[in-house]
Amino acid sequence: MTELSGLQIFKYLPAAKKAEHTNCKECGCPTCMAFALKLAKHNIDIEKCKYAPENLKEICEQNAKQPQKTVEISGVKIGGENVLYRHEKTFINKTALAVVIDMAAPDWKEKYERVKNFEITRVNEHLKVDLIIVKNGTLPDTITYEELKKLPLKEIIDKEFSSTANELIETRKKAVLEKDENCSNPVYVYFKHTEDKNLLCAKASYYICKYANMLVFEDFDEYLLTALMTLRQNIFTDPQKPLQVESKIYEFNNPDENSLIFMTTNFALTFFAVANELESLPVPSYLIVTPAEGMSVLTAWSAEKFTAKMVAKTLKKFDFANKVKNRKIIIPGLLAHMKDELQEEIKDFEIIVGTVDAFAIGDFVKNLNK
Ligand code: SF4
Repeated sequence: MTELSGLQIFKYLPAAKKAEHTNCKECGCPTCMAFALKLAKHNIDIEKCKYAPENLKEICEQNAKQPQKTVEISGVKIGGENVLYRHEKTFINKTALAVVIDMAAPDWKEKYERVKNFEITRVNEHLKVDLIIVKNGTLPDTITYEELKKLPLKEIIDKEFSSTANELIETRKKAVLEKDENCSNPVYVYFKHTEDKNLLCAKASYYICKYANMLVFEDFDEYLLTALMTLRQNIFTDPQKPLQVESKIYEFNNPDENSLIFMTTNFALTFFAVANELESLPVPSYLIVTPAEGMSVLTAWSAEKFTAKMVAKTLKKFDFANKVKNRKIIIPGLLAHMKDELQEEIKDFEIIVGTVDAFAIGDFVKNLNK
């Protein structure tokens, strides 16, 4: 059942029907419309209006139900989702990635060490296996398969791709659209051992997108987990909250007072693209990262989050003019139109327009030194 808008709610209230009690204010709102708008945002209880019809109360009761439960397993939260598509609002808890350690297997210790020690860092996040599930024994900071089975979760043992995918989609649709309590438990897919790692990766990738709350693997493969964690990070990033890095002055290859100075915004993807290039330059450099609410350079400029005044403020905050002798700051090529404005505001430095793309920084620096 989809949520009602304020206008849809209003149609049920006395004012819409020009009935008795219209805009009576007994609910504490100045009008029925104000009440309807508050109710649509869940900021007031339907019971505050004694004149709301029963069918509206039933709709509100249904809407108040949580579509999917949240379950915490050894500190890892899964479920709690209430939309089908990320752009509708956001996804809440990322698909957990779990590995099974069977202590009856001869090589379990070696596998356990590999799983525990596996870690990748991507866009400032340190990513590890979320959960270790143990069979035929117990280990610290893990959960046994028997304990897992007792939790309010739905298990799908993966066999055919189409049947698993259909079950995942149908379960999530019933949970979110119909608030069907029989489908409100988070769902995990259990992958038995397979030699076909490519098929395993393809299936697991699809199930992360639609709609597994957790994937459990009997196999452990670092390459597989790396691919899945990369995909997962992209799917579960809140589109309304861009990934951002700290606004500060970053140093590459031990810069001194004469080193190159670059500038960009704190949008994480831009930062890492530029940082990778600066790391591989044969010369040291600084990167001034301005606060821009995680927006890329052009977006930040158009939203007035990257202005000459803000850049000047950042330089002042870090007392940068007194730290270096180099008097040239290289700005992103996309901000070439801001050169004069920046120059006007930043008297201590000469503004140089750099490259549009990060990958061209190497060639740009070569030509700069000619
Ligand atoms: Fe309208 Fe009901 Fe509020 Fe009266 S109590 S103003 S009828 S919403």
